Amino acid sequence: MDRESVKSIEYLEILRLSRVKILREHGLALDVGGVKFVFDSKPIDNSIQLISHAHLDHVDTLSQMNVIMTNETSSILKSIGRRGNWTTIDYGIGLIILDDLKIFAESSGHVLGSAQFIIDTDGLRLVYTGDLNIYDSLVHEGAKPVDSDILIIESTYGEPSYRFPSREKIYANIVKWILKTVNSGQIPAFKVYSLGKSQEIIQLINAYLDIPVVVSQSVARISEKYREYGKPLEYLSINSIEGLEVLRHGECVYVSSFRDELPSRKKTRWAVATGWAIRYRYSSYDMAFPLSGHSDYDGLIKYVEESSPKQVYTIHGFAKEFSRHLVRRGIRASPL
Ligand SMILES: [Zn+2]
Repeated sequence: MDRESVKSIEYLEILRLSRVKILREHGLALDVGGVKFVFDSKPIDNSIQLISHAHLDHVDTLSQMNVIMTNETSSILKSIGRRGNWTTIDYGIGLIILDDLKIFAESSGHVLGSAQFIIDTDGLRLVYTGDLNIYDSLVHEGAKPVDSDILIIESTYGEPSYRFPSREKIYANIVKWILKTVNSGQIPAFKVYSLGKSQEIIQLINAYLDIPVVVSQSVARISEKYREYGKPLEYLSINSIEGLEVLRHGECVYVSSFRDELPSRKKTRWAVATGWAIRYRYSSYDMAFPLSGHSDYDGLIKYVEESSPKQVYTIHGFAKEFSRHLVRRGIRASPL
């Protein structure tokens, strides 16, 4: 093929991709063939709001109408008192917006109900990953890369210094620390997100240790949703008589989204679990484990390569850096 025809194919491709316009002034908003979508951001005139999951930073602009989310996300949001007339979908089932505009969700592997949104229009496919984890955990199946023309991918850890150890290794270290702490007569406690990380820690203890888990009220509320959707977690709420009794006695693990004084004479040792622990010291904690609900750098690269998009946009965290790394690999990419 001569250079001129390569050029014109590229030009046609750009024209095709330009069916999707990014409305930069409004958080993440796109015009797809005349229909406006906002992704985890504030609605604009007649837009459809797509909510990828129920973490609070993704729902602070949650609208009551013209919203699409998964059934699980809706159920979690209702359990914490949010109300709205939302459209809910199951993974893999398409929703027809217009004759030539269809949307569906696939798991993003991040938390219960978390979605990647896939928009198909006129032979063009746009994928928005939301918060993404491609690795399997004890409670969530890793996200499968989806083929795309335009890919909008989160890049929280899109920098090569963020490479996490294997989950098995992190799990082993957590189990060791719990045993050591219990054996020294203290209570191991975790301060983690009430949605996602808490349930992974509970399941880890259920699977490998014979120690009861006591959880804060907010963790209990969300864990109840995991049970409802088929994850039989075992724990006691701090608000139950039994939970309080076990905690007083002190032979247990405590899981909460905030650090509080526990009603026990035993000393509490606090740990945190976050991907940032690979880089930063959490000196106010006794322990920090690099357990993340996001993909690390290698995971993000793997996703992009398997999705084989013509154009990538990166958002959150190391958006500029991650785009630069993709461009170096010959992938057309820019930060949003
Ligand atoms: Zn999240």
